[in-house]
Amino acid sequence: MKALQYRTIGAAPEVVEIETPEPGPGQVRLKVTAAGVCHSDSFIMSLPEDQYIYGLPLTLGHEGAGVVDKLGEGVTGVEVGTAVAVYGPQGCGRCYMCAQGKENYCERAAELGIAPPGLGSPGAMAEYMIVDDARHLVPLGDLDPVQNVSLTDAGLTPYHAIKGSLDKLVPGSVAVVIGAGGLGHVGIQILRAITPATVVALDLAEDKLELAKEVGAHHAFLSNDDAVEPVRALTGGRGVAAVFDFVGAQPTMELGAKMVAVAGDQVNVGVGSGTLPVGMLDRPYESSVRAPYWGYRHELFEVLNLARTGAVHVETEVFSLDDAPKAYEKLHDGTLRGRAVIVP
Ligand code: NAD
Ligand code: ZN
Ligand code: ZN
Repeated sequence: MKALQYRTIGAAPEVVEIETPEPGPGQVRLKVTAAGVCHSDSFIMSLPEDQYIYGLPLTLGHEGAGVVDKLGEGVTGVEVGTAVAVYGPQGCGRCYMCAQGKENYCERAAELGIAPPGLGSPGAMAEYMIVDDARHLVPLGDLDPVQNVSLTDAGLTPYHAIKGSLDKLVPGSVAVVIGAGGLGHVGIQILRAITPATVVALDLAEDKLELAKEVGAHHAFLSNDDAVEPVRALTGGRGVAAVFDFVGAQPTMELGAKMVAVAGDQVNVGVGSGTLPVGMLDRPYESSVRAPYWGYRHELFEVLNLARTGAVHVETEVFSLDDAPKAYEKLHDGTLRGRAVIVP
């Protein structure tokens, strides 16, 4: 089968021919219908050899959807032909965190060598993929896989980040989204759908600000210090209830810190290299800094339900598997609108 693999540190990913995998006991094979392109893929491919921990060659794709194609020995309760999305941040299924559906925070994943597809185990950018357990499959039903595959990360991650600040996002509050790319443009819609907050988007590019407004941001500003005053003015000078930073670079973290309110939340989702001082005198009183990772298993069901009601959609640019390296080039150049999706 064809697959997109990262094979050489520092090189671009390559389309290669590899053996079609067979599902082992307990596993499920999917015929992949769609796979999303995430900035985290670019991040791991930018790591120097001594920091790269994901194995080579690595079949990319941690946003995956497919149709159940073949069942490994002992798998029951799943039917061949069912359309599914893959819950990516898989855990052991047994520890205290996993028991609550918080598999993204599994206590034993590292020890047991469990890694998400595309981030350590073979991912969705291939004609077929293996899923280790049927519990990682969430039914897609009538949802179009290409239009919705990215909800498994670009939807689930902002959803989880926003859920953690819901108590702050009361009527009259302001939420800021920094970075209106793949995650950010979905985050804006989730804020509009599940909170009464006024939503402000910040980005470096005018076309991203346009996209932000099209998908529901009330206001959008270029992401620099000039934005601080107008954003604070929208809050009556009080500051922002929650900043969702989908960049995580030093300038965005510092900008977020200048906007956040007393007892507000600064939520750092982006894997930039920014850091923040969090001493008693460094920040507004009782403000919090969080760094959430991906989302809970049940939250993926909820995000898909938001898509079913039409409250959330993903702006997609579709590429074939052969053209997948181009999608990463566009991601790198910042010329994608919304999310790139690979259709094998
Ligand atoms: P993306 O490239 O699609 O979007 C990034 C957006 O940020 C773009 O619109 C870009 O113009 C904008 N941007 C870049 N620098 C900026 C700056 N200084 N100020 C304002 N805007 C700026 O990326 P994505 O796939 O949406 O991922 C966003 C980040 O989230 C990445 O760092 C990714 O690795 C990370 N991520 C984290 C998790 C998690 O679980 N914490 C999950 C998925 C992705
Ligand atoms: Zn991702
Ligand atoms: Zn676990």
